[in-house]
Amino acid sequence: MTAKHFIGNAWISNGDIIYTKSPSDQSQICDYHKGSQSTLEDAIHSARTAFESDQWKSRSRLRAQFLIELADGIRSVEEQLVLMITSESGKVISQVRHEVKAAINECIYYAGLSRAQFGRVAEFDSGQQSLFTREPIGVAAIIVPWNAPATLLIRSLAPAVAAGCTAVIKPAHESAGSHGILMQCIARCSSLVPGAINSVNDGGIAMSQMLVSHPEIDVISYTGSTATGKKIMEAAAGSLKRLSLELGGKSPAIIFEDASIDQAIDEIVRGAMPHSGQMCTAIGRVLVPKNLHSQVVALLVNRLSELKIGHALSSDSQIGPLINEAAAERYSKFVDQAKKDGEMHLTGERLDSDQFGSACYVSPTVASIDDVNHSLVQTELFSPFLLVETFVDKDEAIHRANSTTYGLSASVYTKTTKWAQRAARQIKAGTVWINCHNRLMVEAETGGYRTSGLGRLHGVEGLAPFLETKHIYSEFGEW
Ligand code: NAD
Repeated sequence: MTAKHFIGNAWISNGDIIYTKSPSDQSQICDYHKGSQSTLEDAIHSARTAFESDQWKSRSRLRAQFLIELADGIRSVEEQLVLMITSESGKVISQVRHEVKAAINECIYYAGLSRAQFGRVAEFDSGQQSLFTREPIGVAAIIVPWNAPATLLIRSLAPAVAAGCTAVIKPAHESAGSHGILMQCIARCSSLVPGAINSVNDGGIAMSQMLVSHPEIDVISYTGSTATGKKIMEAAAGSLKRLSLELGGKSPAIIFEDASIDQAIDEIVRGAMPHSGQMCTAIGRVLVPKNLHSQVVALLVNRLSELKIGHALSSDSQIGPLINEAAAERYSKFVDQAKKDGEMHLTGERLDSDQFGSACYVSPTVASIDDVNHSLVQTELFSPFLLVETFVDKDEAIHRANSTTYGLSASVYTKTTKWAQRAARQIKAGTVWINCHNRLMVEAETGGYRTSGLGRLHGVEGLAPFLETKHIYSEFGEW
């Protein structure tokens, strides 16, 4: 398969052909066409024309039907899509199966919401009427990373469609083949109005950079790192675009002294290691009372050393490789830094033996660092790296949990309801799980406080980035 651009319901094969690689074995996976400025201009023009035509934005039943068709379409290629995402992202296949099911579920949820949007009417004084309508904002730019190419695309696209927006998508180049399969599903939907959804591949970031400052884009729905989110905010300022930013995180897990330690360790191992720690909500910090430190460290080391590292397509692998050489090198530097400044409990290393070839497999790290201002505590490491920190009382636990600039998610482990509820309210994060981690669901809003983002996706609020509210006022006076 060669992944092409999709513009105005036509496949466009302009641009040099490059290919994606498997992080698991470095093999060539999928060819794709690289975009150009003129291809991007065509895609934006196509989305604008479709938006202004009224064929899409005024027909909520049609858009709901499209989302149902898309759910069916993804289901019909589920196994092909699972294999492609696994190959391109290096995420182990069991986790990818879950991701694809979540994307299907997302389409169905927003198909319902597409048909369930109403305005409001108010009469603030006699003889007056205020009508509040919700209108789609216009053309949405959707920019997504490689780490969950199905869920993260549909999580932005489905509410954009439900709201009545048209879209230009810029996928991550690392997962161009996975995105190509999703675009084929979109193209097969008979209810898609030509031009309503367009997609342009990129060999790097050039297309994205043009997209985020383009005057014909009304809203940017971006998922990716905080550093890029800041650049996008700057680039979008010129035309004052609406921004929905889903950015990085550094999730803390607080174990209180009365917690069920075994249950907490189970959840923390599962919550820290999905996709080798390359997940925005992955636990990066474990906060424990001083007297539980050695017990928790021993259990974590034990469990993490047992995880089976291997090819993402192998059904018994629990940890796959990091995405690329740059990520593996960055990880080695983090480990070296921790050796210098912290206490090592499990020292992660590059596994480049005969068994692993030249791919980027690394084993997990567990280290303790006391200094809350240390860069390893403050930075998103996006790798299988767990820091253990200690606290003397609950206030210090909360203070530590809130001490990075991130605020995406957190979890709290305790048998005492009031501790759990108090902690959940005091932690500055968009999601706090109690006695579990990473229970993401389409009905529940997700998003970040502080440098983890702006706005929410999922749930009813997921529609908000794509809608404007209009007040229509009339006076009808006396008899
Ligand atoms: P990234 O920011 O490098 O890239 C993400 C996307 O942005 C890609 O499509 C890329 O081509 C594009 N991009 C890169 N530079 C750009 C620029 N200057 N202008 C416009 N677009 C640009 O992120 P990544 O390393 O690929 O992904 C990992 C990051 O994404 C992590 O920080 C992770 O926490 C975050 N993430 C967040 C969520 C969430 O829901 N909050 C979900 C998944 C990933």
